[in-house]
Order: sequence, then structure tokens, then C-alpha cells
Amino acid sequence: MRSQFGEVGEAIFLNSGFCYDDAETAERRFNGEEPGFVYSRYRNPTLAMLEDRLALLEGAESCIVVGSGMAAVFASLMGILKAGDRVLANKVLFGSCHYIINEILPRFGIKTELIEGDDIAGWEKALSTPATAIFIESPANPTLQLTDISAVCKLAKKAGALVIVDNVFASPLYQKPLELGADMVVYSTTKHMDGQGRTLGGAILGNKELLDEKIAPFNRHTGPALSPFNAWVILKGLETLPMRMERHSSNAQAIAELMEKHPAIEKVYYPNLPSFPQYTLAKQQMSGGGGLIAFTLKGGKTAAFKFLNTLSIVAISNNLGDAKSLATHPATTTHSNISAEARAAIGITDGTLRLSVGLESIADLTRDISAALDAAK
Ligand SMILES: *Cc1c(COP(=O)(O)O)cnc(C)c1O
Repeated sequence: MRSQFGEVGEAIFLNSGFCYDDAETAERRFNGEEPGFVYSRYRNPTLAMLEDRLALLEGAESCIVVGSGMAAVFASLMGILKAGDRVLANKVLFGSCHYIINEILPRFGIKTELIEGDDIAGWEKALSTPATAIFIESPANPTLQLTDISAVCKLAKKAGALVIVDNVFASPLYQKPLELGADMVVYSTTKHMDGQGRTLGGAILGNKELLDEKIAPFNRHTGPALSPFNAWVILKGLETLPMRMERHSSNAQAIAELMEKHPAIEKVYYPNLPSFPQYTLAKQQMSGGGGLIAFTLKGGKTAAFKFLNTLSIVAISNNLGDAKSLATHPATTTHSNISAEARAAIGITDGTLRLSVGLESIADLTRDISAALDAAK
């Protein structure tokens, strides 16, 4: 979308309100007879550019952008749920997704149940009772466990449930949940789409009717709006997303292979490694490995902290999808709000670390990570 000035880069419309030539125009904008903008909490030209671009990238009819990934997750659920409904989700979840599903939704009379992502019989059993929505994070944060999206979507159709997939780890380039049968896809654009750790943002994608009827009204009236400035930064990020994802993936592949051979390592989890427990499923539903690796060190928390504290290029951070490589210890940070038993049940031990592999030179990363592994031995 270009203004009358013919700018090459997208313009930033950093405005909250819009005005109208006459009262009749205002009336038509509000009753939907005339397209156009009314208020930036609803939509704004810069947000619209990002929405159109993301819809094209995903192959979705429609997109709504919001202020953060969690705003996208929350709106995708609250837009379609009411008291008395039932929601299923896979067990391994990003900490805040876990909080929404296990703490917030039950307060509003919504029943929730967590299913082991890789247990298709478990999903089948859970879906023999009607459900309203299924929330799937695949690959899941932090252990990268996968859920068979296509199989769960088939079961969901029969049970009358809508499926929402959090596709942050794979990105729209390496996994297409809508083609696999999902009804909505959600993103934290904070991660790979911005890609340089600058802004918070989120997106919800799906068919136009569902988004227009259920999600747009919730967002318009509750106000998780994205800043036009952040939307513009994310638009710039999208221009280099494919090249960056390629580099994240090739760097991560090399690091995962290096780790697998190191004596300090108990187990490495990377979807594109033949030793990955769900390698066949990864090949089926993903077209690239992505930039995230989970791994467990033999020496527990002591070894994990030694590894982190020895790193010099890789930073210690709970963020991910940045140009800079970032490492985190989930048990003491992102997943410290869930009990040790619950963590153990989803494969997070005191020796588990998550690495978001950045865009640095692979020679530098190899040197840094090898030194940290040697120190953790
Ligand atoms: C980061 C993340 C979110 C939340 O996104 P924010 O932009 O931080 O609100 C949700 N799901 C997954 C899988 C994430 O990695």
C-alpha cells in the first residue's frame, strides 16, 4: 500500500484517529457500508499492510495483528470460548500459554485438559467427549516435542472442536498448520518475524469469517492493539525472514550435530536430527528444522549453569528468534512457575537447556559452544 508520494519503503501511519469529509461518511464507515479506517484500536494503514503481508506468507484468508504473542494466544481462545466449554492442549507449553489454559480459563467455567503431544491414542480418547477448542504448540517450548497436527485436526473435526496452532518455533516458512487442517494459527512476531529483538507483536491467522465474527470484535473492544511503529519494524523484518530462517536452520543443524557427539551431553532434541524421537513426524509436517535446540547435560543444574556461565558469544536470555544466539535454563526461568514434578513429566530436568541459534558465523558459534560444553563436562 503506497501513499500519493510513491515511497518505496512502507510509510508509518503513527496516528490514533481518522477524520471524515462529512457526517454521512462517518456514518457509513461505522455501519460498514464504506471501507476505511475509523480508529487505530480497530485497524490502521500500517497494521493493515502487515496483516496483508502475513496472510500472503501463511496462505491464510485473513490476519489480525496484536500487541504481543500472548495477546494473540489469548484472543484466539477468548474469541471463541464461553463458560461451560472444554479446551484441550498439549502438555509441553510456553509458560504463559500454560498459565492461560490452566489458571485463567478455569476461572471462567471452562474445563481444560492437557494431553501428551505425541500420544495420538490420548488425543483420541480425550476427543471422544465434545470439546470447543484445541490449542497445539508444535514444536513445543522448550523440549521441541511435536504433536501430529493433521491427525489431531481430523479427530477435532469429528468432535466439533476448532484447532489453534502456535507456530512460533517453525515459522510460516517451515510449517503450514492451515494446510494440515487447523482453523487458526497464532504467532509471536516478537521472535523470528522481527528477528532482531526489537519489538513485541503477535498475529492470528485463519479464514475471514471466523476472524471477522469471533476474533475481530474481541480485539476491537478489549484493546490489545499493536503499535503502528512496531508493525512497521516487523514489516521490515519480513523482508529478510526467508534468508534468516535458512541461516538459523543451517547454524542450528551444525550445532545439534556437534552437540550429539560431545561427552557432556545426555540428549539433543532438534527436529531435523535422525535421532530426534519424532523425526518421521517432523519430516512429514515440517519443511525445515528451525533455529531452536533443546539439550540435556549429564551433570544437572551444576553443569547447566557452568555451560551458561562459560559462554561468551551466546547470551543468557529467555528470549528466542533473535539474530543473536541466546541460551536459557527453563527450570529456573521460563518454566520455574510450574512444579518440579510437572516439569519432569514434560521432560524438563535441571540439566535441560534451550538454545536459540542466531545468525553469527558458525565458526564462532562452534568455538563458543564447544568451550562451554568442555567446561560443563
Ligand atoms: C514467545 C512465545 C509466545 C509469546 O509471545 P510474546 O510475544 O512474548 O507475548 C507464545 N508462544 C510461544 C511458543 C512463544 O515462543
